Amino acid sequence: MKRIFLGLALACLATWASAYPVLIHSWDVKADLRQLDELRISVDNVNWSHGRIVADVRDDQVLSALLDQGFDVAKLPDIAHENALRLNSDKSLDAPKDEYYTIDQYNQFMVSTAAQYPNLCTLVQAGSSGQGRPLYFLKISDNPNLAEAEPEFKYISSIHGNEVLGYDMCIRLIQLLTSQYGTDTRITNLVNGTEIWICPLMNPDGFVLGQRYNANGIDLNRNFPMPTGEQHPDGNPWGAETVAMMNLCNAHTFILAANFHCGSLVMNYPWDYTYALAPDDALLQSAALTYSIHNTPMYNSSEFEDGITNGAAWYVITGSMQDWNYGLTSCTEITAEICNDFWPPASTLPTYWAQNKESMLSYMEFVHKGIHGLVTSSTGSPLNASITIQGNSKTVRTDPEVGD
Ligand code: ZN
Repeated sequence: MKRIFLGLALACLATWASAYPVLIHSWDVKADLRQLDELRISVDNVNWSHGRIVADVRDDQVLSALLDQGFDVAKLPDIAHENALRLNSDKSLDAPKDEYYTIDQYNQFMVSTAAQYPNLCTLVQAGSSGQGRPLYFLKISDNPNLAEAEPEFKYISSIHGNEVLGYDMCIRLIQLLTSQYGTDTRITNLVNGTEIWICPLMNPDGFVLGQRYNANGIDLNRNFPMPTGEQHPDGNPWGAETVAMMNLCNAHTFILAANFHCGSLVMNYPWDYTYALAPDDALLQSAALTYSIHNTPMYNSSEFEDGITNGAAWYVITGSMQDWNYGLTSCTEITAEICNDFWPPASTLPTYWAQNKESMLSYMEFVHKGIHGLVTSSTGSPLNASITIQGNSKTVRTDPEVGD
């Protein structure tokens, strides 16, 4: 039965329709998660104490198959999908008031911000989505066109196209950093001493379609190579968005990152794929806490102590972007779940900004913690070096352009 169903699920990939979230009431969460994993159904959120699993199904056939297998499953209202269609039908380019940016307004915002602040911002297109939309980063630093001996930091949001709060928070952060540079001492120091990369929208096709997946039905946060060396844990080819992010990350030496999601309120740190603790478990906890402690609802969570959790301890997933970053690059990445709703009403955005602003700034400043320096030859040229610390199995590399 399972095998037949799996075949059905994979066939659905070829004729991709529109996915939607479902709620599963579970009496044996562990067993149900195992079964959903075998069926390659993306789980978005697990509440162990209430026996609730939120998952995403690809269409009604998958939903019926779950019912046939005995799951207590019901469709959730797909507010994000409705909102995305309504929002993106607006073709005006005027900056919105009290509303999320449409895809066109967003693209214009990224281009025009780089044009408005040429001494602070560079627009970098990491690649294109499956449907050809640009995957933009703004690199924000005091000399944005130079690689300097400054740590590289990145924020990425909305790898899941229907989880949009981080998209708006990243836009607000860009506005804060650019408008307050030279006025606010803390912002000025942060921008002067850091190479800040921000991509508010990693999955623009999913955003326009109002769905978790990319346009080809791939869950991008299950699509990355594993620290174990397994290349395609989800059985899919890499999405165009996955390839773009891997290329960009491999071309730079990021030190610290977070990627923003919705569906829960917690900072989730590696590993996702194994119960084994990561080599830098204490550092990861400290980084996660740096964010959560300034976000009062997150820190006061009744579900997660201090608003942080180890990824696998919550629920195991494979092919996540944070595991790829942490396991296969020099970057420590954390998954920030910043809102219980996928698409909170636009009227609540100022409140969410008030809850996340200090967290976002403090987490960026965390990149300056720890040992740092330059690795150079005897004549002072930067070296492409790998650095390991005795007793820690994670190796990091220097940025070969500057040796930092
Ligand atoms: Zn997500």
